[in-house]
Amino acid sequence: MAQNILHGIPISGGIAIGKLVYMQHQELGELSPSYISYSEVVREQKRFSHAVSATEQSFERALNSLPEHMTSEGDIIYMHKMLCRDPKLIDRTNANIEMKLLCAESALQRALEDISLEFSEIEDDFFRETINDLHLVGERIMDKLTGKDPYDLKEGEPVILMARDLSPADTIELSLDNVLAMVTEDGGKTSHAGILARSMGIPAVVGVMGLGRTVVEGDVVIVDGLKGTILLNPSDEEKSRYTQSALEYERYKEKISQKCRDTAETVDGHKVEVLANVGWVEEIPKAIKSGAEGVGLYRTEYSFLNRTSIPSESELFKEYSDAVQALEGKSVCFRTLDLGSDKLTLSLEHLDEANPALGLRATRYCLRHPRLFRAQLRALLRACAGAHASLMFPLVADLTELRKITHIVSEVRQELADQNEIFARDISMGVMVELPSTVILADELAEEIDFFSIGTNDLTQYTLGVDRANAQVSHLYQPLHPAVLHSIKRVVDVAHQSGIAVNVCGEMAADPYCLPVLLGMPVDTVSMSAQAIPGIKSIIRQLSLEECLDLVRSVLKANTTSRVNRMVREFVYSKTREDMAFHFSHLAGTYD
Ligand code: PEP
Ligand code: MG
Repeated sequence: MAQNILHGIPISGGIAIGKLVYMQHQELGELSPSYISYSEVVREQKRFSHAVSATEQSFERALNSLPEHMTSEGDIIYMHKMLCRDPKLIDRTNANIEMKLLCAESALQRALEDISLEFSEIEDDFFRETINDLHLVGERIMDKLTGKDPYDLKEGEPVILMARDLSPADTIELSLDNVLAMVTEDGGKTSHAGILARSMGIPAVVGVMGLGRTVVEGDVVIVDGLKGTILLNPSDEEKSRYTQSALEYERYKEKISQKCRDTAETVDGHKVEVLANVGWVEEIPKAIKSGAEGVGLYRTEYSFLNRTSIPSESELFKEYSDAVQALEGKSVCFRTLDLGSDKLTLSLEHLDEANPALGLRATRYCLRHPRLFRAQLRALLRACAGAHASLMFPLVADLTELRKITHIVSEVRQELADQNEIFARDISMGVMVELPSTVILADELAEEIDFFSIGTNDLTQYTLGVDRANAQVSHLYQPLHPAVLHSIKRVVDVAHQSGIAVNVCGEMAADPYCLPVLLGMPVDTVSMSAQAIPGIKSIIRQLSLEECLDLVRSVLKANTTSRVNRMVREFVYSKTREDMAFHFSHLAGTYD
């Protein structure tokens, strides 16, 4: 038997067995100064020099193992590698060792503090970026000096990556080629790092209480991303049982992928358009291969994460044009920047906010930074000329905000026309429904837009007041809560009365329990990570629209989440065949 079994929230399917690595940052500023004698100067300078070389090498390795599509991330890593030789950092640290007789760690820390102090006087954005970069590089060198390098996932040694938390930026920066599975102590059902793990096809479990206290670096673990369990030091019998399950899961995936490119039609002949959520151009071919009929959510902020410089309009134009081309005529819905909250970028200023999820994020952030927003709109409108494309705006609270956006869009259009640029003159525009205010004011908004796209991840968070990434309250994060369901129903009814369509692009769309409820609302399209598409299409083919409509009539009368969950569970079990067991096993407990 395993030494210990931990439980968490399964957020990305699959089973992995391997040695664990626990990622930990050495925070600069945590160390108190430590002094050396004169005879130790050369030794400390050598230690520092080795740490710098090792840091350079790990940036080099990260560059070599970076998936081909992450070109902008490659630029950043290359720049960080170059900064390892920055004389400001190297010479000052060496001088601090020699003149102030500080050990290498303290000398590096002092050098970074001095550099920060110097540049803090200078208003220029470029210098501020330089400080951020040097700090990042300094942290990596410090990790090498202290023997802890969170990003050093050695080549050729696949590992199970564990951490207290992973930001979307961390997830991108890690060399995930060698990561078999990801496990975190924090995080909730729809945290962004989890969404990224899913899009990269890595099994993941989040919200594992006491993870840091329990696990020992180097231990062998089994991660079951279907059930949300982690077995520490499993027995041989358990290893072979899980290896068998992993094989069966692969076979199951193979089976559902066979028909994934056919349209999904319910047993009573209702066609459901299934779209993909992507964050990079290079995900598009994979999405099409998985059966996506278009892109329902292009998260444009992903290519801003982990960049130390703001992409130019021409870089953005290239990215969006490439996306349009890769889709070969299929539709794409670009969401304008949804930065802020947990999606922070090194290239832009983010305030230190007490409640970032309620702070300057998404559309609010864009309205605060009009130059950035306009550059993105120019690139989008130009790239979408002649394409089957639409724009949508995240976290729009009310009509005033919508009008501010559409006013900027009109100005940008005028500017492009004046410059004789070719651009999408009549692009359709929609808003994401993520806030209770958007639901309440849906009828007013519907008059001025072309579609709604319901972001159930945030809608659940804001409707129930439950942080989507906080493991402590994840049991309260219930997408089938009556308040969430009534909100969705209201949006669908209002939209259809106004003659506009409703897409769902939150994780509910990829959840086999929520799917029949969404179809019965009835929403028009669903959008999800590519990985989920074959399974969801397979489920759609086993459902009947009439029965889904009936189900929704009944669940809307239920006044507790547990009652809804019970009804949905019974419905799903009665309608789907045995081979779907895999698809549902990871949700066991979620809807009990
Ligand atoms: C959502 O909130 O449901 C959504 C799709 O947006 P994101 O997950 O990127 O916040
Ligand atoms: Mg959202």
